[in-house]
Amino acid sequence: MLVLQPEAIWSEGRLQTGVAVAIEGGRIVHVGAPPAGGPVVELRRRLLIPGLVNAHSHAFQRAIRGRTESRQPGRESDDFWSWREQMYRAALELGPEEVEAVSRMAFLEMALAGITAVGEFHYLHHPADGGRYADPDELALRVCAAAEAVGIDLVLLRVGYARAGAGQPPTPRQIRFVDRDAEETLSAVERLASRGVRVGLAPHSVRALPLPWIREMADYAREKGLPLHMHVSEQPREIEECLAEHGLRPVELLEREGILDARFTAVHAIHLNEREIEALGRAEANVCACPTTERNLGDGIVPALELQQAGASIAFGTDSQVEIAPLQDARCLEYHLRLDRLQRAVLHPAGGGASALADRLLRSATEGGARSLGLSEKGRIAPGADADLVAVDLDDPSICGAEAETWVPNLVFSGERTAIRDVWARGRRIVEDGRHPKTEETVADFARVMRRLWGGA
Ligand SMILES: [Zn+2]
Repeated sequence: MLVLQPEAIWSEGRLQTGVAVAIEGGRIVHVGAPPAGGPVVELRRRLLIPGLVNAHSHAFQRAIRGRTESRQPGRESDDFWSWREQMYRAALELGPEEVEAVSRMAFLEMALAGITAVGEFHYLHHPADGGRYADPDELALRVCAAAEAVGIDLVLLRVGYARAGAGQPPTPRQIRFVDRDAEETLSAVERLASRGVRVGLAPHSVRALPLPWIREMADYAREKGLPLHMHVSEQPREIEECLAEHGLRPVELLEREGILDARFTAVHAIHLNEREIEALGRAEANVCACPTTERNLGDGIVPALELQQAGASIAFGTDSQVEIAPLQDARCLEYHLRLDRLQRAVLHPAGGGASALADRLLRSATEGGARSLGLSEKGRIAPGADADLVAVDLDDPSICGAEAETWVPNLVFSGERTAIRDVWARGRRIVEDGRHPKTEETVADFARVMRRLWGGA
């Protein structure tokens, strides 16, 4: 048994001092007074928080970081759709080993940022010529292997993808994402589950799938009690196309189909009308905000205040990996609303104290993510939960000098990655004093793939 004695723990919005956390077999077995007798590991000036949960990731997109930050030649403006063309280039060219190397880089950075579980919205399925790998799950298994090598848990959200838009076949650059039919998508889910992979279903979007295919995936998820994730209303064009095809906006369509519930996660959910916000709230659905990506792509701002007031649960995702900084995502959810409304503390819960707003944001980054991925054993420090823990250095230059009631506001609004010193994933210390033991080899492998893909020294 391992017993950790930090300065304080924070879990489910509550700070406790003077408690120890005992771990056995990868789980937390005790939170409270240090058990008598056994050895205790003192974590001086450390705040222990639950491992952060990243509810939305496309690991391979780590390969395009820094390569889409200019306007394309000949274009008067740049937007999500031109960014997507660059993303497709990486998606088309990466071989299986390269997918694994790039994913390992993304997951290693996640571990260093305090993330212990990730929902991988996986849509790279097939070879670029539209054939099939000898093992049709090759790429999904490569992504799983990458997470395992780093030591974080992964939920493989197996994507269904069929078309470029209503009535349009997939473009040649989308061929790798496309299954023949819903049956092929569902049999992949079934095979992966039987191989011990933790799975969820991800109909890509209302744009990329015909309605019957979405229905089949949603039915399967309901029957098996699995998480169901979908990109929803990231860009205004998606809403226009959905109105043209179905006569309804995306969330209205999903509500009519009975798809919204507590297992459902709408990723982005930016361009919503009041009725759609109400529908997501009534269903107690999850909304995964990805603010560092959304600001990078010029997507817009998640209406988080109205969503939370309506009853939706917020989670965070690193999505395009432009930054892997979950605390940055948490603070930006609030900051974007401030810029939009010319107000401060927009998401502060009524009647809450000095740390209530930061508590709320950090709960989304922990419990909110766990709920979205169906990981009831994660996101909190409590007996029976997985021993996914992050030790934060209260003397880190970015957050030092705080008193107990502003520890969490300091961490959420100002904490840098340097403050994250140790990370345990199911009881195993994967980051020790800010270092992951596989950093050098992971960076070297990744750099090799980047040279092949983009050239240069
Ligand atoms: Zn995404």
